[in-house]
Amino acid sequence: MLACPICKTFPLRLFVFSVRNIKPTTSIRRCELYCAYHGDFIKNLSETDCATCYGKEISDGLLECANCGRWYPIEEDIPRMLPDDLRNRQQDEAFLIKWKNRIPQHILNEGKPFSLLHEHT
Ligand SMILES: [Zn+2]
Ligand SMILES: [Zn+2]
Repeated sequence: MLACPICKTFPLRLFVFSVRNIKPTTSIRRCELYCAYHGDFIKNLSETDCATCYGKEISDGLLECANCGRWYPIEEDIPRMLPDDLRNRQQDEAFLIKWKNRIPQHILNEGKPFSLLHEHT
């Protein structure tokens, strides 16, 4: 599981847009402490909830840091956890537009470092 590269907050909030089934690396391996797929701490989940998590790969999604308001795209199974100065504005805005209907409004409007509202400022 990933922490925010800027403010080190953990866990990040995960939004899943598309999932792909893969062959789990081990037969039974459950999430520890925090399950990104279910977006909750293990203590709040039942024993069986995470039995299938490792058989799923998040192809497209978004991670949000509730502390600093940054968001990070997940594309082609890869979370892009870059500091602001290494991020590509055009690429990130294209991502927001692509998943507009799946991304919570507050991220579209106020997400950092890029959002759709502040596009032309
Ligand atoms: Zn899990
Ligand atoms: Zn953060």
